[in-house]
Amino acid sequence: MSSFGKTTADTRRCVFCGKYMAGHLTQCPFCREAVPQVQLSRREGPNGRQQIRHGLLYMLLGAVIHYFAGGYGNPIQVPLPASVLPLITQYLTPLLFLGGLGLTLYGLFLKFRS
Ligand SMILES: [Zn+2]
Repeated sequence: MSSFGKTTADTRRCVFCGKYMAGHLTQCPFCREAVPQVQLSRREGPNGRQQIRHGLLYMLLGAVIHYFAGGYGNPIQVPLPASVLPLITQYLTPLLFLGGLGLTLYGLFLKFRS
């Protein structure tokens, strides 16, 4: 009785001749056709975790660069000429922050879609 349950658990039907064969075989022993291994889980594509992680990292990086380039970390000075610093705080760090925000939202979209 237990052997019968075991054999039905790991047998499957050949898609070409319809006879039952062992589940681990890649070739049907009756008709010699190659049987493809069926993958039931659909965890192959991106599920958004990596996008969320990278997006949050970019947002943190943008905030840290903005903090120091804007002169808020007063004893610590950024070794760049003063004419470049407003350019960084006006264009580079908002772009980095918004890019990270967009990547995070895209990761959340992928996570909820899958
Ligand atoms: Zn077969």
